[in-house]
Amino acid sequence: MEYTSTRDRAVRVPAARAIAQGISADGGLFVPDHIPALFPDDLKRLCSLDYVGRAAEVLGLYLTDFSPAQIVSCVRGAYLGRFDADKPAPLHPLADGVDMLELWHGPTCAFKDLALQLLPRLLTAAVEKTGDGCKTVILVATSGDTGKAALEGFCDVENTEIIVFYPSEGVSRMQKLQMDTQRGGNVHVCAIAGNFDDAQTSVKQMFTDPQLTALLRANGMQFSSANSINWGRLVPQIVYYVSAYCDLVTRGADLQNGFHVVVPTGNFGNILAAYYAKRMGVPISKLICASNANNVLTDFLQTGVYDRNRPFYTTTSPSMDILVSSNLERLLFALCGENDRKVADWQAQLAATGRFTVDDAVKDKLAALFAAGSCDDAATAAAIRGVYEKTGYLCDTHTAVAAAVYGAYRARTGDATPAVIVSTASPYKFPASVLEALGEIAPADPFDALDRLSERTGTPIPAPLSDLRQRKPCFSGCCEKTQLRAAVLQSLGLSE
Ligand SMILES: *Cc1c(COP(=O)(O)O)cnc(C)c1O
Repeated sequence: MEYTSTRDRAVRVPAARAIAQGISADGGLFVPDHIPALFPDDLKRLCSLDYVGRAAEVLGLYLTDFSPAQIVSCVRGAYLGRFDADKPAPLHPLADGVDMLELWHGPTCAFKDLALQLLPRLLTAAVEKTGDGCKTVILVATSGDTGKAALEGFCDVENTEIIVFYPSEGVSRMQKLQMDTQRGGNVHVCAIAGNFDDAQTSVKQMFTDPQLTALLRANGMQFSSANSINWGRLVPQIVYYVSAYCDLVTRGADLQNGFHVVVPTGNFGNILAAYYAKRMGVPISKLICASNANNVLTDFLQTGVYDRNRPFYTTTSPSMDILVSSNLERLLFALCGENDRKVADWQAQLAATGRFTVDDAVKDKLAALFAAGSCDDAATAAAIRGVYEKTGYLCDTHTAVAAAVYGAYRARTGDATPAVIVSTASPYKFPASVLEALGEIAPADPFDALDRLSERTGTPIPAPLSDLRQRKPCFSGCCEKTQLRAAVLQSLGLSE
């Protein structure tokens, strides 16, 4: 299998190159040249395997330049001994044919661990293959959870530096503490006076800045990305949709009409992975895209007009506070007949005017594949409380956005097809918002809030969060949004 760029189909590289580089030099994203199929017999076989086995098979279909032994070694390293009970993606049945797919049993308590425990291993193997012997500099823009998961995944990985930028006012107290206390000889963390989109735009510009990349190269370094623009982050996410299907089958669920997946969405990486799983042959019915008050995707999926010219809201689900969803570019490429000119043109319009409109053919395909909805913070809180009172299940703010949007979808359509709601973070990552949703007054200190939430609900505090109590922050800097480049040079000890 080879990978091409969403903005230039002449590009053809093996998976190792796509992962090592992160983004194509033309600014486009790497995509596989075809989607491998899982036939009914393949799915049957996958059902009999554990998560590691399922992951190795799915990855093997996409990373054809990696040896099976290499893939198994990466997958075992990522998933064994790192997730509660070695179950990275368990289903938790709720009620009425609805399951929660819990993806927060890893070291940072959010779903980003599923990809970011694996990516450093894939990247190290990829850089060995591409043979340029360069030190890899991972640049990350985070809306909260990617940063910590990437720091955990890459800390003290040989021949790698990692630099994380997060919006100073845009992350939860717990997320900030998780990042600021990160240890490791190769890690750099910097808050920026701006929002996630500012951070992501600057980081993407640095990847394709010829002067900066030349300076790095002259010093034996090259950039790569741990954001979901990197293919190596998306492919591990396809696995848990395949695995959820296998778990439903094994349980004897009635899947005559397939099942819906409901995904709390920000950068469109997670739901795009579900789209690939569907294209591979997993019987996913609708892809239900849930947004918070930053509802640019809801409007886009319903009207075909993407328009980021709107207020940016800081919400209780900060990891979804995004107006420019990078991975949409991959979906558009697939739905417009892989027309790189068209995609490049839409992205150019987006950069210039903040807006583009897809043609009717694409709009129709979107309508067939997706349902979409959004909810504000009050509806998010009501969903946390409602789900808890009805089922005893405690969800975090992001998962609650999905639960609220699904509830509205089901009420509107009466559609009782089984549904899997992707539960993307532990409620303990956002203890103050979750407590308030339950009608409590949240203590000002985040650790008191953890204790209070545990007392109130009788659920345990995940160890990675309670352990933060003892840690002292190692980082405290905050830079202007125009100064990211200078911060990168400083972190690497370089000057122009
Ligand atoms: C990152 C994140 C999301 C959004 O996922 P995307 O792949 O960016 O759409 C949702 N919930 C949580 C908890 C996250 O960390």
